[in-house]
Amino acid sequence: MTLDDLGIAVGTVASQLSLVENGKREPKLSMLQRLAVALDVTIDDLLGSEPPSRRAALEIELERAQRGPLYEALGLPKVRISSRLPMEVLESLVGLQGELERRLDEQVATPEEARRANVELRAVMRERNNYFPEIEAQAQTVLDAVGYTTGPVSQHLIADIAAHLGFSLHHVNDLPHSTRSVTDLKNRRIYLTQSQRTDHDPRSVLLQALGHYVLEHRTPENYGEFLRQRVATNYFAAALLLPERPTVEYLERAKAAKEIAVEDIRDTFAVSYETAAHRFTNLATEHLGIRTHFQKTHKSGIIYKAYENDGVTFPQDHTGAIEGQPSCRRWTSRVVFDVQDKFRAYNQYTDTPSGTFWCTARTERAASGEFSLSIGVPYAQVKWFRGRDTDIREKSFCPDESCCRQPPPDLAREWAGHAWPSARAHSHLLAAMPPGAFPGVDETEVYSFLAAHSG
Ligand SMILES: [Zn+2]
Repeated sequence: MTLDDLGIAVGTVASQLSLVENGKREPKLSMLQRLAVALDVTIDDLLGSEPPSRRAALEIELERAQRGPLYEALGLPKVRISSRLPMEVLESLVGLQGELERRLDEQVATPEEARRANVELRAVMRERNNYFPEIEAQAQTVLDAVGYTTGPVSQHLIADIAAHLGFSLHHVNDLPHSTRSVTDLKNRRIYLTQSQRTDHDPRSVLLQALGHYVLEHRTPENYGEFLRQRVATNYFAAALLLPERPTVEYLERAKAAKEIAVEDIRDTFAVSYETAAHRFTNLATEHLGIRTHFQKTHKSGIIYKAYENDGVTFPQDHTGAIEGQPSCRRWTSRVVFDVQDKFRAYNQYTDTPSGTFWCTARTERAASGEFSLSIGVPYAQVKWFRGRDTDIREKSFCPDESCCRQPPPDLAREWAGHAWPSARAHSHLLAAMPPGAFPGVDETEVYSFLAAHSG
């Protein structure tokens, strides 16, 4: 039935019916009654929101899609929707449109989103002084179960922990590239690499894998949740490697002796400097009443990780993100790269617009480059730390551009306009987050790996 046919049947012109059809005019009740009679349906059918058939549902969906911005942006011709359009063409067009929308949704974890997720997470960490008692309690339960008392947590004890939780460990030489470990929840197996990658403490890698299980993590629904889970499993691993009670006892003794030093924590519990520094931020405010900041900075000056609850002002972008920003050249985290003595920690006082801070730092080499790891405290707290007697003092005016972001005038006069550097992209910080529940992980590779090994 054409609009003309229907117009004759209900006593109006086709153009008026077209306005009704396209939702530009509301029909009168009397018109609705005449339409129902002419089409041999009830008024309920006319007003109902459910499409009367699969075909009608597809036609409505295709019409909606062709009017939307996504279809417009594709620059494709619009398909005229009529009874002559074969059903399989309708199904195909609507299906393609739906799949395209789904894929775009999956990729929404843009760098912008990732940065926002980081900012939110840091706000929560600051609010809680980076101390999470519920994770401490879970770590303690696990340690009690395997009879831990004091001192470093050995690889042997961690294997006991895995066994206690019902997991067997399998070292393989074909672990999927995009992973550090793979857990087979069906057969309760944890796969780890055989190769000795120096970047990651094998104990941490295993404890993080167990952390997902103990903390009852579900498949993350978005990048923010992925990030929260990763922070929680990192925390869990650190809480096992540096158990709360002995670590706090150790720190309290060091504080009483005014000898707190991150490298001593590292040596006492046999962990990396980064793990020791990070763990210090968990316990310092809660147990020692010391506010602090932590920074992991690449040799290029770019900040990879940062935390503070002591009022230090980190550089940040318009979203409040710190990761990916350049650290001030005069800060300990940058100056330490130029220090020749790598055996001892480097200590420095820095006057900043938000106060004077004392910081201690070391550099560590990893596959991805050289990094500095630093812990800092406000001037009033330095009395508890070894290395407070340093006479090195720097002044930082950042974020004032004149501090260190602009080249000195004489250099600028000579070279401005005569330099064309080709930038090295910090792809991991700036690239769009790879799609998928576990960003960057190739699911096919993981599933085929599990299939091959579980047989
Ligand atoms: Zn600066």
